[in-house]
Amino acid sequence: MAFAIKNAFIIPMTSNNSMFIKSGTITVEDGTITDIGPSEKIEIPRGFDVIDGTNKIVIPGMINCHTHAAMTLFRNYADDVPLKEWLEKYIWPAEAKLTPELIYLGAKLAAIEAARFGVTVLNSMYLTEKMEAKAFSEVGIRGLVGEGIFSWIADKAFQRTKELIETWHHAEDDLIRVSIDPHAPYTCDPEVLQKVRELTNNYREKYEKPPLIHIHLAETKDEWKNIQASMEKWETNGIAIKEELKNAEGPVDYLNKLGFLTPNDTDESDVIAAHVVAVTAKEKKILAEKKVRIAHNPISNLKLGSGIAPVPEYLKMNIPVGLGTDGPTLTPLDMIESAKMVALLFKGLHNNPTLITAYDALKMATIDAARVLGWNDKIGSLEKGKDADIVLIDLKKPHLTPIFNPISHVIYSVRSSDVSDVFVKGKKIVENGTILNISVEDLLEKVNQNISIFLE
Ligand SMILES: [Zn+2]
Repeated sequence: MAFAIKNAFIIPMTSNNSMFIKSGTITVEDGTITDIGPSEKIEIPRGFDVIDGTNKIVIPGMINCHTHAAMTLFRNYADDVPLKEWLEKYIWPAEAKLTPELIYLGAKLAAIEAARFGVTVLNSMYLTEKMEAKAFSEVGIRGLVGEGIFSWIADKAFQRTKELIETWHHAEDDLIRVSIDPHAPYTCDPEVLQKVRELTNNYREKYEKPPLIHIHLAETKDEWKNIQASMEKWETNGIAIKEELKNAEGPVDYLNKLGFLTPNDTDESDVIAAHVVAVTAKEKKILAEKKVRIAHNPISNLKLGSGIAPVPEYLKMNIPVGLGTDGPTLTPLDMIESAKMVALLFKGLHNNPTLITAYDALKMATIDAARVLGWNDKIGSLEKGKDADIVLIDLKKPHLTPIFNPISHVIYSVRSSDVSDVFVKGKKIVENGTILNISVEDLLEKVNQNISIFLE
């Protein structure tokens, strides 16, 4: 399929500064962007379908750097409690009742929700991930999927991880990739974490783009205490813990001492660390030195009262930061909402309206997120040669009229429901706000029919 979008406000996300094309054209052939620029300079080849972009903003498909897709099934299942209680009392017991079919339904619901909001990539850590990969590919979005590894199910999780990599890494024309996902340093003992590192290192020989690691890290200020409590249990179970590890300053220092943060052949981290809220000055230096990739989830951190990550400092230190929502049980898979939140949060926190500009926030939802997921060679910005993951936003609305700066518009005025059309690798998956090729009504009915087991 070859097409062009003509005369739109285009925000390509290729500059380091706020920049947009006021009346631009973008051409796409066989899933790839073939040209982009001001309309008067772009010649649309004969035979291309032409989409009128008047009154539309065009942005790259947005990228959610951290979620647990099938947790759509537990939307607001338990709220207004701390993380530990939320997990142990509510979420983990409910998850014990999940079946592969339910995970498939939940992930499909997540993929549809995301696509409808202009989100074209979900980085999801969950259970029975082959069902999530299947759901994402049916809807047509991209996914980075990883099987959650916990000490108490490590053997099964490693086995599933290996199968997932063999079956799904770079599958569906590279729309699906796989990561290796130890849940957190307090739920995975050092032996499991070392095994994760070894496994990742082994895949570096096999793949040009080997699987990355995806882990929750330093989510709350109590995490180091939780790791120390777990250490006592692990030692009772016969796992030797080195003194050096016990004397770490915090979770980041601990993982660094374990040799977990970088592969054996490079100094640059292949770890996507979700949250990284509570860290010491020394730990910030480690994050910067190793270029650990951070997935910042402002709404999840606020809702769980986990604290606020020092994002402006991370950016100053050139630490890669992308945005995520965390599980949809906490908040919708809405990246415009998360981008707006990050643009507002630090202005208020530091009494400084210059912190995290609208452009910075949109970067964290697009090109910087692509960098965090190691996918920036193909997606995250609109430029010649990249895959055509494109989102159109309809401006013919009272709350979007008039328009001066489309970047500010996207962050401060657009609602995700204003997304009209979405393309992934040149294929249209949303048209005029409607998901194509999937019966949404059927899916919603099936989900509602199946959730009663969580109320028992
Ligand atoms: Zn999470």
